[in-house]
Amino acid sequence: MTLPLQFCRTCGAAQYPSRDACRVCLSDALEVRDETVTGTVVSEGTIHRSLDPALVAGGPLRIGAVASPLGVRIIALLAPGVAAGSCVILSPCPDRPGAIIAHPAQQVQAS
Ligand SMILES: [Zn+2]
Repeated sequence: MTLPLQFCRTCGAAQYPSRDACRVCLSDALEVRDETVTGTVVSEGTIHRSLDPALVAGGPLRIGAVASPLGVRIIALLAPGVAAGSCVILSPCPDRPGAIIAHPAQQVQAS
């Protein structure tokens, strides 16, 4: 399970969100590559209402900030069973283009 993520070709730092220059060395030599991204959910919340109705279609959305060992914190939807403190693996959300979803790391490794 991989996630397309932007990296600096000069220093190797991961970038999130994507940007025009590296957050560490300011190089503009950036590339997107598919990477296995794991992390720990450090905060969570629920969106009940939004100015974009498509955002909450199908019920409230649980979201969280995921601290990755790559040095970035990534905002992701939380799959069932994921809460603050959970170890997760991130992937693109199949039914919400552009969104990222956090799955329990143990569940993914077992399947
Ligand atoms: Zn860099």
